[in-house]
Parts: sequence; structure tokens; C-alpha cells
Amino acid sequence: MKHTSRLFLLSMLVVLALALAACPSSAPTAAPATGDGAAAPVAADAALVGISMPTKSSARWISDGNSMVEAFQKLGYRTELQFAEDDIPNQLAQIENMITKGAKVLVIASIDGSTLSDTLQKAHDEGVLVLAYDRLITNTPNVDYYATFDNFQVGVLQGTQIIDALGLKDGKGPFNIELFGGSPDDTNAFYFYDGAMSVLQPFIDSGMLVVGSGQTGMDKVSTLRWDGATAQARMDNLLSAFYTDKRVDAVLSPYDGISRGVLSSLKGVGYGTGDLPMPVVTGQDAEIASIKSMIAGEQRFTVFKDTRQLAAQAAAMVDAALKGQEVPVNDTTTYDNTVKVVPSYLLAPISVDASNYEAILVDSGYYTADQLK
Ligand code: BGC
Repeated sequence: MKHTSRLFLLSMLVVLALALAACPSSAPTAAPATGDGAAAPVAADAALVGISMPTKSSARWISDGNSMVEAFQKLGYRTELQFAEDDIPNQLAQIENMITKGAKVLVIASIDGSTLSDTLQKAHDEGVLVLAYDRLITNTPNVDYYATFDNFQVGVLQGTQIIDALGLKDGKGPFNIELFGGSPDDTNAFYFYDGAMSVLQPFIDSGMLVVGSGQTGMDKVSTLRWDGATAQARMDNLLSAFYTDKRVDAVLSPYDGISRGVLSSLKGVGYGTGDLPMPVVTGQDAEIASIKSMIAGEQRFTVFKDTRQLAAQAAAMVDAALKGQEVPVNDTTTYDNTVKVVPSYLLAPISVDASNYEAILVDSGYYTADQLK
């Protein structure tokens, strides 16, 4: 009898272990594929890597998080992945909790890069290695490395997409444009904007691009928390204040969620129908909803940043640092966080439109063709 119940208990434990092993580390939302999923078994005493992502509201961060769990586990690390739902105190609490649990490494994509100084002082006092992931962490000496994409180049790509689509270099114009920036608490937003303006400004100066509202500069065009609804409301205002007797030909948007807000606003007043063509709208992140919009002839462009590559890069940098090896970096001058220049590795962003999305997103296995239907 005793024997039978012990057997029963044992089999229940096996069932439980199998069920737990099948659980994903985060909610299964529409997100890109992440590698082959073959994570090696991780030793219980392996070093813990705390991974703090800003939000699940954009699929890219889910993909970043999942890819990192996979990449770190393959290298033999334990991981803890948290999403902070764009709530700063929440992110601070999650990171402090990771430190309390004995994390040896923190990989952080911050909500507001300037808010982490006290928390990272605690991390530093505990000897924790800190890697800023995609977004720079500012106002602290306690950030060791930065893994990101070439953020200025993202903006250059977005500006160039507009220039090429409008035919500005062929002398076409003048055209009306409106500018949207990202969140002012994210240094990336400034790099994106500056990169785009580095190529757009000459056409504005020559009068071939006209900012109908006159609103230029991040102090006027930024979008707090990259929020699509905020962008939609601003576009509504721009259209009713400045475009009742003329049309907008292009909208610089730094992120797909913002682009979709802008497109809703444009569609609301009839763009994309009759003799009112949809303006050239840019974006970033190649989100599924935006690729579908592209296929439907609405959003014209996006910029793809392969989150699988960034995750693998972050894991390689951390692994090298912990093993006392040379950490792979390719930029030691650009990312001044106000206290120090953070040694960085920049990956290359890719311009995507209806002509190449299949080759870049589907053939590479980032999305399945079904996800884009
Ligand atoms: C990232 C972008 C993203 C944006 C909004 C930025 O920091 O670099 O890829 O579109 O945040 O999530």
C-alpha cells in the first residue's frame, strides 16, 4: 500500500515536472519565432541572469525576452524574465527583486533610462554586471555594456524611405510632411529623429519638403511612451488645424505602433480612398499588424531590427565579460550616458517594404507566412 502511494506520488511529480517544462517563460502573444527552442538543461547553481523588459504591449520585447532566455540558457545560465508594462516603479521593483534573488547579471531595456541610478548603485554594490539592452541607461556609472542597433542609422533609413518614395532626388515636389518622434525619455528617440533629419533637412531647407504644421524638433513632435493613441490624437489635431485645404504627402513615424495611430487618423478623414492617396508613412520593428497594413497598401515602410540577433549578441557579451574574456564591442564613442561613454555593440537595421518583407521576415523564419495572413 505504502509502495503504491509512493509510486503514485512519484508519477504525479513526473507529470508536474513535464507540465512545468512545457510552460513558456512568458505569455504566448503574437510574436516572432525565437531560434530552434533547444535550450540545454541548466544547472541549479548556474549564475542567474535577470532580464528586465519594458512592456509586452509591443511584440518585439516579447521576442527579445524569449530569445534571451533561450540564448542564455544555451550558454548554461539560469534566467528570470520580467516585463514591466511601461510602469517605472514596477520595473524598479522587478530589478531590485532580481538583485535580492542573487542575480549575477542584469540585462535591462529601460522604460525611462534615467530612473535606474539608485537601483543600479545597489546592483553595483552586489557586484552585478549590467548590460543596457537596446535602450541606453543614463545618469549612472553602473552600466557596463550596451547592446543595440545603430539607432542613428534607423532614422537615416526612415528619412531615406520618404525621400525615395516621393522622388525628391529626381526633383519632384514640393510635398507636405509631418514629423513624429518617439518617447522623450528614451535616448533612442533622439537618435532616430536626428538620423531622419540628417537626410530630410536639406529638402526642408530647399522648400521641396514643407512641414505643414511648422512643428519640428523633438520638443514639439515627441510621443510619450511611444503610444499609438497619443500619436493618433496629435495627427487628428494636425489634420484639422493645417490640412483642410491641402493634403499631407508623408509622415515620418519612428515606430510601427505610432504609425498605426497615424494611419487610423488619416483613414478617419478619407486618406487612402478616392483621390486622396495614403501618404508615405514610415515605421520601425516590423510588427505583424504593420506588415499586414503594408500588404494592404497602407503603411509604406518599416525598419526591421532582428531581435534574435540582438539577444544573441547580448548573451555573447555577458558570457565573455563573466569569463574575463574580451567583450565584443564595435563602438566606444557614441553612447555617452552623461557619466561615461558606454562601450557598445551596434547591429545593422534593415529597410523593409512590400517588395522585400517576404525575403527578410518570412524566409529568415522571423515570422511564418501564416502569421502575416
Ligand atoms: C526601440 C524601438 C521601439 C521603441 C518602442 C525603442 O527604444 O529601439 O525598436 O520601436 O523603443 O518600443
